Amino acid sequence: MKRAATMLAVSLAISMVVGACASMQPGGRDLVAKAVSAQGGADALSAVKTLSYKATSRQWEPEQSAIAGGEMRLANEATLVSVTDVAAGATRNDWVRNFHYPAPRTFTFSEIVTAEAGYVAGIDSNGRTKQSREANPPAHAMSGLRLAAAQREILLASPLLALEMSKRPDRVSPAPSVTVAGVRHPAVSYRAGDQTLTVLFDPATGLPTRVRSLDYDNIWGDVTYDLVLADWRTVGGARVAMSRKYELNGRTVMDVKLGEATVNTSIAADRVSIPAPFLATARKPATGAVPYQWIIRRQFIGTYLDSDRPSYDTQGSPGLRLQELAPGIQHVVGGSHNSLIVEMKDHVIVFDAPVSDWQSNWTISAARGKYVRKPVKYLVLTHHHMDHAGGLRAYADAGATIVVGAGTAAHYRRLLAAPFTRNPDLSPRDLSGTPIVEVAGRHVLSDGTRQVELHVLDPNPHAAGLLIGYVPDARLGFVTDIWSPGAAPLPDRLNPGLAALVAGVKKAGISPLKFAGGHGGSADYEPLAALEGK
Ligand SMILES: [Zn+2]
Repeated sequence: MKRAATMLAVSLAISMVVGACASMQPGGRDLVAKAVSAQGGADALSAVKTLSYKATSRQWEPEQSAIAGGEMRLANEATLVSVTDVAAGATRNDWVRNFHYPAPRTFTFSEIVTAEAGYVAGIDSNGRTKQSREANPPAHAMSGLRLAAAQREILLASPLLALEMSKRPDRVSPAPSVTVAGVRHPAVSYRAGDQTLTVLFDPATGLPTRVRSLDYDNIWGDVTYDLVLADWRTVGGARVAMSRKYELNGRTVMDVKLGEATVNTSIAADRVSIPAPFLATARKPATGAVPYQWIIRRQFIGTYLDSDRPSYDTQGSPGLRLQELAPGIQHVVGGSHNSLIVEMKDHVIVFDAPVSDWQSNWTISAARGKYVRKPVKYLVLTHHHMDHAGGLRAYADAGATIVVGAGTAAHYRRLLAAPFTRNPDLSPRDLSGTPIVEVAGRHVLSDGTRQVELHVLDPNPHAAGLLIGYVPDARLGFVTDIWSPGAAPLPDRLNPGLAALVAGVKKAGISPLKFAGGHGGSADYEPLAALEGK
């Protein structure tokens, strides 16, 4: 009894201290109330029943750069017409996206996002699901992962976010102020579903100035993803930010500029309703470990696979599987991205670590099952792009040496030293001591019997230091991104990527019969070589 009383006294004392700290924070809920008032007041914001705007948008992808750690690629320039029916909780975005990377093309499509489901009309990606390919005209229901990400992005950018926060004070808590560019911003935390956002306020105007998410990025680990709001205009009594910039670890990766914006323009119900057949198959929003950065940024380059397993289309593929290409050589296929496993005397070598540590864990486990007591000694990364290297941590954790192309080791050393506490597939640990071997020109991995050759393919149009692999006893090569063997018929003449491969094969003095791909499947090399000079 006495003990319980003491405990109670102690916990009361603790709660008093916590309470005192909380009230010492400059605001919390006061900051939210001030923001609501700065945005026109609760009455004006509550009167917003619909919001419509036109915008232009540019998106850049930092982890598809030509040089590891180098300049971001401009991924696309787009126009957007967006309408939101606040009462219905539905948003429609009509996009025209002109892509610069990985190939010039235009996707014109519409997204409808509600609380329950998401839908895409039109083609929005080169990585289409079975449902999208089979629908006529092309359309598909969003995966639960994409729906969760789309809902979060709509919430972040909503001019009604502060109003929503003011109505849900139990989800608001004080947060330490954040200094950006020398200016101290008071801040609060806001719990939205299983996300905790940090909202920063302008110390002068009280307007929300930055909405921060703490995400996992498969290259840089723990990252900040900030929506920076600026250029406030009054639209029908409510203040709306006409400039939305998105910063990934402080670098602008998306810049959206609103043109015309109106409130309370009527929206026909069918514009924001999902057609019944798609609604019937639509997934509920995913919860828990949603790979937001993967979902958002694969869309930047028009290659997002809208599936509840980022590695493969859950509707169109039974999953990843091993395909034997030669004795002791397994191609990991069944997904959007492949690896190659090569058996050596007392270990295995794996080429590429695509998508995520989830896929890496699958591949490592499949290799263990096939080649018992042969650990992965080397992970060879053909190049640094996020979709082929983003699963490297699981290999580092499994004790593999990472083998990379010329001029890229420093980049990998930096990212292996980055914390990754939000990685859904690997618990946090120190990988900064992972051995890295940088290959210049030619490199041979040998166990005294089998040899595996690595060749740097410079110059090439895709990525500096790009490696190809070659197993002489099987006369099999491995190539990623400059050729996807079997994915599509060969063109009539060599394009720059294929020309780089043909030149590289000659320079290396190798004589492959077949290539296996980081995408696609495997195919004979001779028909490709025969295109030279055409
Ligand atoms: Zn690439």
